Parts: sequence; structure tokens; C-alpha cells
Amino acid sequence: MTVNEQLVQDIIKNVVASMQLTQTNKTELGVFDDMNQAIEAAKEAQLVVKKMSMDQREKIISAIRKKTIEHAETLARMAVEETGMGNVGHKILKHQLVAEKTPGTEDITTTAWSGDRGLTLVEMGPFGVIGAITPCTNPSETIICNTIGMLAGGNTVVFNPHPAAIKTSNFAVQLINEASLSAGGPVNIACSVRKPTLDSSKIMMSHQDIPLIAATGGPGVVTAVLQSGKRGIGAGAGNPPVLVDETADIRKAAEDIINGCTFDNNLPCIAEKEVVAIDAIANELMNYMVKEQGCYAITKEQQEKLTNLVITPKGLNRNCVGKDARTLLGMIGIDVPSNIRCIIFEGEKEHPLISEELMMPILGIVRAKSFDDAVEKAVWLEHGNRHSAHIHSKNVDRITTYAKAIDTAILVKNAPSYAAIGFGGEGFCTFTIASRTGEGLTSASTFTKRRRCVMSDSLCIR
Ligand code: NAD
Repeated sequence: MTVNEQLVQDIIKNVVASMQLTQTNKTELGVFDDMNQAIEAAKEAQLVVKKMSMDQREKIISAIRKKTIEHAETLARMAVEETGMGNVGHKILKHQLVAEKTPGTEDITTTAWSGDRGLTLVEMGPFGVIGAITPCTNPSETIICNTIGMLAGGNTVVFNPHPAAIKTSNFAVQLINEASLSAGGPVNIACSVRKPTLDSSKIMMSHQDIPLIAATGGPGVVTAVLQSGKRGIGAGAGNPPVLVDETADIRKAAEDIINGCTFDNNLPCIAEKEVVAIDAIANELMNYMVKEQGCYAITKEQQEKLTNLVITPKGLNRNCVGKDARTLLGMIGIDVPSNIRCIIFEGEKEHPLISEELMMPILGIVRAKSFDDAVEKAVWLEHGNRHSAHIHSKNVDRITTYAKAIDTAILVKNAPSYAAIGFGGEGFCTFTIASRTGEGLTSASTFTKRRRCVMSDSLCIR
């Protein structure tokens, strides 16, 4: 039997086995009632993926990219409708970005040493079935991005998605499996459950067939994963400050900051969440924001109303997360024209609308006496998340000082925050930025094990 015949037989076995598992609704490929079944199905699929050539993995990835582009608008609309958060146009762009710029098998490389004592290689091999927990802020983007990277590394994946975005997440899982089948791959390369709960996530985290867990979300989930006893990749919360000094192009800084801050109604974890501006240029910056960038400056009294609306005694008001500026202003009785896209105000760094990660187009501006004072304030505002920070400055020494002091996975200079994920900037895209565990922007290689293969005294032909 040739390798390809063997593969076809494995795929037939995989499809038949998956039909025997209880997928109650056959149209939802990869979606199961029970987490144990989902893991079992992903395990079967991984046995097939393991035997595939890199070229075959890449064909499936190409099909996933194509499917994502074809369904970008549907996924974007579904997510906004289901979660009540974000902006359809921006979500379409995010899906296009994930399809086009998430690294595939080219990220799986080999390191070699060749010399008198032979040849040694370090290869990147699969973990097997990876468990992944995904957020409601970028639901399908994260599922597609994680699957491309994990599959490129030879893994399959089981998701426990955010319950608030389950329809969108499971539709993405279905599209991924359709793409795999269309490219001659197995079904269940990505699996999920119909009703994700904390219990289903506990089953996943303690399952003997899950060696690695990737968690994308707030502090709670990252802590839970790191306590699981398994290897964990923790992509946690951020509260990215953007520092503006007097050497910056202030007009461009205002435009970049508001473009980044308002993208998808401020849902991205990397988005500008507050500004620290040096006193000498703070007024000029705010003027440009109001006059040219569709910002609405709120009074002290309005700040109080907005604070009471957004931060309740029980925590962040989820009804406000991911809403646009006009809607938020409407909620405190302010009617503004349609060009208004961001709410701004000046305040101290301790102001709750400034110090908390809101994920809303509300941008507090903190004034700093000097550059050193600005760095200190920005570091405090980042809260040690080590996630993202941004700066507008033309002074390279200052940029270096800031980068070292704030020590984040991402630091964007003189551009909107989304340049960090390849949108108007160089570099690849990811929706899982492992801030807490240090992998940084994840890609296929992040989801592999390093294996050293040594051949002593042979194969060196120099
Ligand atoms: P969230 O923390 O509410 O939920 C994220 C996921 O974790 C969901 O699937 C949820 O069900 C699950 N979860 C939460 N607590 C859990 C626990 N104790 N055990 C197991 N699972 C648990 O976050 P969200 O509102 O969906 O997303 C927004 C948050 O995620 C923000 O804080 C944002 O900064 C962060 N985020 C980070 C990244 C990154 O790459 N670092 C990317 C997107 C979002």
C-alpha cells in the first residue's frame, strides 16, 4: 500500500469513527455534546494528521484561509449579533488579517549542527491534542488563528469557547472541518462542545490526552490554566498605555491613537486604553483629537455619570463592553453627531475609567510633568501585565528607555496599536499574545515540542 492509500484509509476510518460519536446535529462538524467525546474525536484526527506530509497540512491550512475569507462577513455579523460587541466592518478586516497573515507550516523550522562528530538536528514536533480556551471579544478570529498554528505544528485542537460567543465559535469550528475535508484532510481537526462550562473546561484541563493548554482571555482563565498542572500558554489581559512626548508628530499621534483605540470598539487586548501625554503637548493633542478625529470631550459631571454606568459595584458593566462611543454617550443621555467615535477626558491615572481595562472607546488622558514622570505613570497603568504599550516619539533614546521600563510583549512606535499584529505594520498576525507566560505573539512553532536527533560521526559531508 502506498503512503497516500494508507492516508485515504486513515481518513475514512476517522470519518466513520466520528459519525459513531454522538454529534447530534450532523451539520455542526467538530461540535460535540460532551467534552470527553470532543477530545476523543480530536485524538482520532491527530492520528491522521501525524502521518501527513507538511505539504498536506499546508493544503488544509490554505483551505481554512480561503473559507475564512469567504465567510468573513458572516462571521463578523454573527459575532456582533451574538455578543452585542464590536464593529462589523472592523471584524471583517480582522478575519481577512487572520486568514492572510497567520503563519502556517513555514513557521516549523529545523536547527542543525554539522561537524566532525556528525549531524544534530532540532525538529519541531507536535504535542498531540491541544486544549484551547477562547474569548468572546475575538471569538472566531482566535479559533481560526489557533487552529492554523496548531495544525501547522501537527496537532489537532479542542476548544472550550466563551459561552457568550458559542454560536460564532462553533460555526468557525464547523468551517474549519469543512475546509479540512475539502482539502482531503480528516474531520475533527478542531473540536468543540455545544455548551461550554467551567466543568467542561476542567475536564479538558485534567484530561490525560491533553498535554498543553492555550488560554486566551482575562486573568481568571490564565490563572486557572497555570494551576492545572499541565503546560500552559497564558495570553492574558492588558491595559495598554500610549505615551506621547513633545518630539512626536502630534497631529499624526492623535490620528493613530484614535484609529487604534476605536478599532472594533476597543475590544482588542492590544488597543490603546489610555494616554500619558507630556504637559507641553497635552492640550495640542486633545485639540487634534476633538477637532479632527471625532472625539467628544466630556465634562467632570459627565465623567461621573459615565463612571457610574460603566463600573458597577459588581464590576465592569458587560453591557457597555465593545459598544461604540455614540451608544455609550446615549446611555448617559448625551446625543452626538454620527462622526463621534471616541470619548475623551483628562484625569489622574487612578481614575477608574483610566486604570481599569474597559474595552470601550473611552480614552482618558493623563498629564505628565516630564518624560520620566510619563514613563513612571505608564508603567503603573500597565499593571505589570507585560502585555502591550505604545509610544509616539522621535527620540530613539527615550523609546529605548520606555521599552526597557515597561517590558511588554508588544511595543508599537508611531503607529496605531494594530500595527503590532501585521495590520499596517510588518510581521505576522496572531490573536493569542502570551503575555503572562512569555511566548509573546504565538505562532505554529509555539505549539511544538523541540526534539533533538543526533547522528554520531556520520552525515557530515563537508
Ligand atoms: P474572559 O476571561 O471572560 O473569558 C475568556 C475565556 O476564559 C472564556 O472562554 C471563559 O469562559 C473562560 N474562563 C474564564 N474564567 C475561567 C476559569 N476560571 N476557568 C476556566 N475558564 C475560564 O475574557 P473575555 O471577556 O472573553 O475576553 C476579554 C479579555 O481577554 C480581556 O481581559 C482581554 O485583554 C483578554 N484577551 C487577551 C488576549 C491575548 O492575546 N493576550 C486576546 C484576547 C483577549
